[in-house]
Amino acid sequence: MSSAGKVRQPVETGVSGWAAIAPRQFRAQVLAGRQLADWLIVGAGFGGLSAARRLRQLRPHDRIVVLDALEVAEGASGRNSGFMIDVPHNLASGNYSVGGAASSQLEIRQNRLAIAFAAQAAEEYRMPAATFDPAGKINVAATERGMALNQGFAESLRQIGEASEALDAAQMRDITGTDYYLGGVHMPGAAMIQPADYIRRLAQGLAGRIDLFERSPVRALRRLGAVWEAVSDHGSVQAPKVILAVNGHIESFGHFRHRLIHVYTYASMTAAIAQAPGADRWALLPADPMGATLRKITLDGQSRLVIRTHFTYNPDIRVSAAQVARIAARQRQSFDARFPALKGIPLEYSWAGALCLSTNHAPAFGEVEPGLYSACCENGLGTVKSTLAGMMAAELATGTDSEPLRQFRRQPPPGRLPPGPVAWLGVNAVIRWHQLRAGREG
Ligand SMILES: Cc1cc2nc3c(=O)[nH]c(=O)nc-3n(C[C@H](O)[C@H](O)[C@H](O)COP(=O)(O)OP(=O)(O)OC[C@H]3O[C@@H](n4cnc5c(N)ncnc54)[C@H](O)[C@@H]3O)c2cc1C
Repeated sequence: MSSAGKVRQPVETGVSGWAAIAPRQFRAQVLAGRQLADWLIVGAGFGGLSAARRLRQLRPHDRIVVLDALEVAEGASGRNSGFMIDVPHNLASGNYSVGGAASSQLEIRQNRLAIAFAAQAAEEYRMPAATFDPAGKINVAATERGMALNQGFAESLRQIGEASEALDAAQMRDITGTDYYLGGVHMPGAAMIQPADYIRRLAQGLAGRIDLFERSPVRALRRLGAVWEAVSDHGSVQAPKVILAVNGHIESFGHFRHRLIHVYTYASMTAAIAQAPGADRWALLPADPMGATLRKITLDGQSRLVIRTHFTYNPDIRVSAAQVARIAARQRQSFDARFPALKGIPLEYSWAGALCLSTNHAPAFGEVEPGLYSACCENGLGTVKSTLAGMMAAELATGTDSEPLRQFRRQPPPGRLPPGPVAWLGVNAVIRWHQLRAGREG
């Protein structure tokens, strides 16, 4: 028996601007009646849909059912900033915190495998450049401390033979239309996506080859002899093999308890702007990981800017609308400081979304019970990490032997957390301190 009692359901707060501006092109189906399948995937985000695509490649004649509690792109997969990053974040500090240059190079290879998998899907399903754009991203600095972090980052990249280009304040002004930034480092290997549109087009591309049911929450998952049975509101699915791609919600299926850290981060998107200064499209990651992430997109001559800031610790995996509004007010200040000429432009959409972290940056991955696989806990970079975990779960579950899978399986399980109140104090103290230190980068 996997889920003891009721499975906690995902709740999203605020409307994602990405989902709001990209109309979906396919009809939603809700699970009804008793269905039999060869494979059941729970979760239709980066993890679940990538698992479905890889399974289709490996078992083209099998019946694959995917269930999601919400609509496709309503969860974090349609709420993020769309940076598919090949080079790990922790390089920025100049020290290879996960374990040295060799492990950074391995991580880069893994990230690139996931980006290539997404690029293939983008090509096969004819996604436009506005949805999947291999344009790279810029690590930006607005303070001397940020400049020093960027320098350390560029030096780390040089040491492992990775290309990057230093940009000065004038170049940053030409790109962004603001003189807020002192400099930047352009990294060519990142792909930039319109996350909600990418996820929907991935689902649409798979339609007809898989059976996707939305608004079909899995309320219980249990073993019935040789198969698993997932029970939803109006139907059930029985399958011998199940992949759980529900990120932090894996806990409520009875696995990885007391090992996962549930954190939220927040974003706002402006209303459309007819003549925004600077280049039409850019993507800025802060040199300080606790700083503000910004993007600009332009479609049909209308631009929008998206800002992401703040992290909060929410072990019950939900946040209030009041919290989103409070942080949106702070984002307004960060935005106005950067773009004083755009002060009157409203932030049309503000939203929050969940991340799942572990103390040792390890995923919640593997066969957790016979025939039950987990592709969860993306450590904050799920556009790439969950894509990879989904691919690897499909390989593991089909008994496919590959070098990437062998390497992926060598990772330890997520580290154990201290007892509740200690974890609460510890995580909050770390977030507060880092956020304060980010200063003008935030
Ligand atoms: C504001 C913001 C900015 C971000 N920026 C970036 C970024 O730039 N780059 C990056 O790599 N990452 C970023 N992230 C993180 C990224 O969004 C996540 O890592 C990613 O979405 C994880 O994908 P996933 O498929 O593992 O999980 P999810 O996207 O959470 O998908 C899991 C799915 O499971 C479903 N589910 C859960 N429980 C059940 C159940 N009981 N029954 C049925 N379905 C269920 C949920 O509805 C959900 O659709 C950002 C996140 C936020 C919120």
